[in-house]
Amino acid sequence: MTSTGQVHDHGGGVRSIEVPIPDNPLGTTLVYVVDTDRGPVLVDTGWDDPASWDTLVAGLDACGTGVGEVHGVIITHHHPDHHGLSGRVREASGAWLAMHAADTAIVRRARSTEPGRWLAYMTAKLAAAGAPEEHLAPLRAARPRSVPGLAPALPDREIVPGELLDLAGRRLRAIWTPGHTPGHVCLHLEEDHPAQLPGHGRLFSGDHLLPEITPHIGLYEDPDDTTIADPLGDYLDSLERIGRLAPAEVLPAHQHTFTDAPGRVRELLTHHEDRLTGLLALLSEPLTAWQVAERMEWNRPWAQIPYQSRNIAVSEAEAHLRRLVKLGQAEVMTGSEPVTYVAV
Ligand SMILES: [Zn+2]
Ligand SMILES: [Zn+2]
Repeated sequence: MTSTGQVHDHGGGVRSIEVPIPDNPLGTTLVYVVDTDRGPVLVDTGWDDPASWDTLVAGLDACGTGVGEVHGVIITHHHPDHHGLSGRVREASGAWLAMHAADTAIVRRARSTEPGRWLAYMTAKLAAAGAPEEHLAPLRAARPRSVPGLAPALPDREIVPGELLDLAGRRLRAIWTPGHTPGHVCLHLEEDHPAQLPGHGRLFSGDHLLPEITPHIGLYEDPDDTTIADPLGDYLDSLERIGRLAPAEVLPAHQHTFTDAPGRVRELLTHHEDRLTGLLALLSEPLTAWQVAERMEWNRPWAQIPYQSRNIAVSEAEAHLRRLVKLGQAEVMTGSEPVTYVAV
C-alpha cells in the first residue's frame, strides 16, 4: 500500500481517503474510491462538515480524478459518518446513490418524522427501559428542534443482497449484514487480491467488521415499528457469514485494513458471548435495561459516562437482553413497568 497525505493506494484500482469526523474519537471515515470503466465509484462519503468535504474533494483530486467525475455512491449504512456527504457528492457529479432498502426506510423516516415525535418516542423508550427521572427531565423540558443529520439524502438505487452492483468492469457483490443497522451491507470485491494474498477477494466491511473496535449494537430506532427485533442476533448471524467468506483482506470504514477476517470474527463472537454470560449472571435478580447498563462493563465507570452515551449504552444493554430472551435464557416479567428482565 502506498500513501500520500490522506490518500492510500490499496492496489487493483482501489484507493481510500481519510475523511475527518469532527469532534469524534473515531477520527476519520475511510472513503473508498473504486475505479470503474465509467468513472470512480465511492464506498461511503463521510461526515457532512465543510472540512470533511474539502478533504474528500482534495483526496479525489489526488487520486487523479475529481468530485465531478464520480459515477456512483454505494452506502454501507445510513449513519452520518458514512452517508453525510452523499447528497453533496450527487449534486456535484450527478452520481447515483445506492443503499439497502431497510436503511433507506430509516432515511425516509428521518426526513419525514417531526422532531417533536422523535423526542416523545425517545422519552417513552427510555422511561420503559427504567431511566431515572433526573435523566428524563431534560428530555421532557426540551423544545423540539431539528437535529443535524436528520435530513439525509434519499438514495435513488437499491442495493439488493446477493446481487452484483452495476459497476462497469468490476465484480462487486452486496452482502446483507444487518445488526449495526438493519440495512447494513458489506461489499465483496470478487477479484484476485492485487498482492495475491490468500483468500477470496477483498471485503469493504463498513462498520460491521473493524480491526480494533466492537461496533455499537443497539436497538433499531423506529417509532412506527412495534415488532421486537433482535439486532444482536442479526449481528452475530451476519458475522458468521462474513467469517465463512474468508476474504484475503478487509477494507473497513474506520481504522485500517487487515487480514484474517475469520480470526477477527471469532474474537467478536467470543466478546458478545462473554457479555451475554455476564449479563445472565446479573439477571439472578430482576433488573431493568437501565439497571443492567449501570452494572455492565464499559470503557469507563458508569458515573463518568456522559448523558448521550448513556442512551447508547442502555440501547446496547437492551439488545443483549433481547438476545437472552430469544435464546430462552431470560424473560420479561409480565406487566412490569418499567420493563423488567429476569433469568429463566
Ligand atoms: Zn455506523
Ligand atoms: Zn462508522
